[in-house]
Amino acid sequence: MSSSSETPKTWYTGSCHCGAVRYSVALDLSNPSFEATKCNCSICLKTNRLGVRIPDPEQSFKLLSPASLDDVPAYRFATKQSQHRFCNKCGIHLLCHGEYEYEGQVHKVFSINAVTLDPDQEGLDLREWKVRFWDGKKENWNAGPAEKPYPGGSYY
Ligand SMILES: [Zn+2]
Repeated sequence: MSSSSETPKTWYTGSCHCGAVRYSVALDLSNPSFEATKCNCSICLKTNRLGVRIPDPEQSFKLLSPASLDDVPAYRFATKQSQHRFCNKCGIHLLCHGEYEYEGQVHKVFSINAVTLDPDQEGLDLREWKVRFWDGKKENWNAGPAEKPYPGGSYY
């Protein structure tokens, strides 16, 4: 249930390059707290991922193709807590999800790579997005998302 303080979300479609993987996602782009993030960690840097966290994927994310996320190959590394999902035909990184433990607390994460949102959708203009930067390389999550990339990161 959404509270009255929330503005309604809008559904957008996204896909990999070849179209084998397609999804729709509900985003509240008019919410002042909406932001996309980039990160200097090894996987975010090399995939050049533009992350948008989906706090409630059960309600706000639908995989349209293939039928199950299990059919989208996953890449795991290091502690293997995150699953990075790629199209096995065209190689595009679509999303990551998983749990990680930080300072004794388990955090659930579901994050799309927002550059896989389909272009030319009304109200969707990535140029207008606020982008902030995490220090994932040092797992320095307490430092928070910053206006500038942390060392090792990039703006674009
Ligand atoms: Zn593909």
